[in-house]
Amino acid sequence: MKFSIDTLGCKINQSESDFIVKELLEKGLELVSWSKHPDFCIINTCTVTSRSDRKARQIIRKIKSQNKNSKIIVTGCFVVFNKEFLQDCDIDLIVENKDKNKIPDLIGIMTAGRKDPEMESSDFKSCPQFNQMHSRPLVKIQDGCEQNCSYCIVPKVRGKYKSIPYREILNKIIDLQKDGFEEVVLTGIHIGKYGVDFSTAGAGKGSKISSLANLLEEVVRETSIKRIRISSIEVNEIDSRLLDILKRNNGRFASHLHIPLQSGSDRILKLMGRPYTAQYYFRKIGMISGIFPDIALTTDVMAGFPGESEEDFARMVNMIERIAFSKIHVFKFSKRMHTPAYGMSNQVGEEIKSERSKILRDIGDRLRNSYIKNHIGKLLNVVCEEMDVENNIISGTSGNYIKVYFPMDKENFPSLNGKILRVAANSEYKNGLWGILS
Ligand code: SF4
Repeated sequence: MKFSIDTLGCKINQSESDFIVKELLEKGLELVSWSKHPDFCIINTCTVTSRSDRKARQIIRKIKSQNKNSKIIVTGCFVVFNKEFLQDCDIDLIVENKDKNKIPDLIGIMTAGRKDPEMESSDFKSCPQFNQMHSRPLVKIQDGCEQNCSYCIVPKVRGKYKSIPYREILNKIIDLQKDGFEEVVLTGIHIGKYGVDFSTAGAGKGSKISSLANLLEEVVRETSIKRIRISSIEVNEIDSRLLDILKRNNGRFASHLHIPLQSGSDRILKLMGRPYTAQYYFRKIGMISGIFPDIALTTDVMAGFPGESEEDFARMVNMIERIAFSKIHVFKFSKRMHTPAYGMSNQVGEEIKSERSKILRDIGDRLRNSYIKNHIGKLLNVVCEEMDVENNIISGTSGNYIKVYFPMDKENFPSLNGKILRVAANSEYKNGLWGILS
């Protein structure tokens, strides 16, 4: 039995796909590309922008049309508001996000009686295919969002806060550590809200570990994973307790925080339903940089939210320049049905949205280049991720989120994948830095 899985969208989707892959490999199925006509084609979709919807539709149609004899399973955020389309496409199994983790069992049921007994061997338990998927494994710590930012469809498709009990998280990290990984990325839809649901519901009800700060402290204490990276956190959820934990365990955390800004105008932030002002954001960043002078600060910004005037946009540009982020993800506002911003008056024209996105991307590129250049001559701790076998070059990611390349014989890569090495950066190279082992 063979299966394929294609994943669109965010890190959470990726980590959920990883779980499905791991479970199916353990059941003895083989992971292949959809072009090899597997028995099951799984498509894990996203719906965050209209572009994501378009991509989901395209890939579903393509995989379905070229795999007439495969069972097609579609899951992820796109399924919530697109059932009709999926039924028209004659999809075999449509799985809501909340049931995504049942896909391996559902496939197990569908394959019952069709299994090749040899494939059930426990030899597949630690199949290397899975380990090769990510050199910096994603560990999902929570799901769901209740913030309801006015442009965002995520709360409608991901539902209420659901945190993973801390024991499960620790066990997963310890397993990854045993498999030789040295960095994990803690991911979630809204990780600053880790544990808020434990007072009322969920498997972790009544848990003593019911905040992100508590969880991080446990991870530091109970595991010996070398480096922990936090995927994305809201500015108002970075409190002094959290900063204190990061500071006390400086060497254990990646020197990197991704803190969405979205807009630099208080008026727009308010319309977006974001719970902070530009001034608050700016002060918090000042506080963080004061404690961690070399930290990489990355962000998300949105161009062309309804009502965004030239002045609002100028405020955002000014803020980005003053903070000098090391990387910026620019999103062009995309009208999503079922969100308040869909019906807002003063929608910004497509041309202006594109113009503003370009300005922001250009600023982002310039700031990124200068951040990268500033690290020439420095020592960086790099997770080995990819091997260019023709040129014998390994590439990986530093703690402060710079892509770093260095020479290494390809024979050494399998034992180095996922390991952190110290590299002396000496010049710019491609989208990052070139260096030598130190
Ligand atoms: S915090 Fe806002 S932008 Fe982020 S997932 Fe929740 S509603 Fe969406």
